[in-house]
Amino acid sequence: MFNLLIIGAGAAGSVVAKKAALNRDVFTKIHLASRTLKKCEIVKKEAASEIEISQVDADNVKEVVALINKFKPDLVVNMALPYQDLPIMDACLETCVSYLDTANYEPKDLAKFEYSWQWAYQERFTKAGILAILGCGFDPGVTNIFCAYAQKHYFDEIHYIDIIDCNAGDHGKSFATNFNPEINIREVTQDGKYYKDGKWVDIKALSISKDIDYPEVGIKKSYLIFHEELESIAKNFKHLKQARFWMTFSDNYIKHLDVLQSVGMTRIDPVIHKGVEIIPIEFLKTLLPEPSSLAENYSGKTSIGCIIQGIKDGKEKKILIYNVCDHAMCNKEVKAQAVSYTTGVPALVGAKMFATKAWAGKGVKNVEEFDPDPFMKELATQGLPWHVKELPVVEQKEPLAA
Ligand code: NDP
Repeated sequence: MFNLLIIGAGAAGSVVAKKAALNRDVFTKIHLASRTLKKCEIVKKEAASEIEISQVDADNVKEVVALINKFKPDLVVNMALPYQDLPIMDACLETCVSYLDTANYEPKDLAKFEYSWQWAYQERFTKAGILAILGCGFDPGVTNIFCAYAQKHYFDEIHYIDIIDCNAGDHGKSFATNFNPEINIREVTQDGKYYKDGKWVDIKALSISKDIDYPEVGIKKSYLIFHEELESIAKNFKHLKQARFWMTFSDNYIKHLDVLQSVGMTRIDPVIHKGVEIIPIEFLKTLLPEPSSLAENYSGKTSIGCIIQGIKDGKEKKILIYNVCDHAMCNKEVKAQAVSYTTGVPALVGAKMFATKAWAGKGVKNVEEFDPDPFMKELATQGLPWHVKELPVVEQKEPLAA
């Protein structure tokens, strides 16, 4: 008997709910709640088995507490936005229920994402005897677990990690984001940084790029950006010398972003428009396509992995662990595009790890702190097969191509 509560019926949350509905041997009852009930109704209709739904404003702790008390879940999976992480964690504390999410907290009025706010719940979650599983999407999530798997099976010491993330898909729109537009644009327009020799090296947004050869996709221009898993990876891998995150953006995406930014449409502070206060990025989000709406005509693949270098038995070693996911396959299976699918499936697998007690404990943990083996096995079974490739060892060189 295991009751699963999912909050957020957007592009990725819908995947979690639909996949849970295909895993009834583990999830006895499933409840999907979101700000807009209509979106839950659509998921309910499309799910393979019965799920319950309701409306909730997850910014409101009291509402989430009432929902938890009514449904009595064993785990709350937060698939709403990073803004809701803390109110949902507060509600979980009040009701003594464990928690899982896919993105770390960021305040609405500050475009800065870091784990400090959620790591600060460590003592309270431990005292309450409940577990918070942080960052269980693909990146963060699977990428952290790829590193943990590499540490367990391939290395004595990991020295270098390059996370490489390519979406080589085509959605046919002139400009759209693959996950929530507000969160995506806040992430990409921030200045970047990477971890080197115990320090963070700051760089200007999108100022460093290089060509990377992605499995099944080929060579793509990739930009060095800050991504949240670097923070927990830098903390959890003791011998690490350097960790970087690379993501592909098309020239067309960058061109649109440049224009939007230069005219002020990505601003997160309020401006007065015809006597009314609006936040430009929130208005922009209203205009842009919803990530879930991209699924139908999306072609191509995502190719995401970790290039990991270190030492095994005294010798230098380098491997790539990766997954390739096809947009059309995801649409066929659960009416989603690959970015939502690669986020939702790992969240579901994380929930399954907790439900089956393969992952247990109390306090606040990032996913690389758990045993990677059962997760990796289940990930492949649930639709995201992964591969390990040995790479030739070459010396790590600086400077990076600008
Ligand atoms: P969507 O915008 O499609 O979905 C977000 C959903 O959350 C919407 O349905 C929205 O409701 C709901 N929501 C927002 N605010 C509230 C609230 N106060 N109360 C209840 N529900 C609310 O985004 P995605 O599905 O693309 O992304 C979801 C999350 O996944 C984000 O946090 C994102 O950062 C994360 N993510 C993680 C990735 C990873 O690999 N780790 C990759 C991609 C995304 P409404 O429909 O009313 O707007």
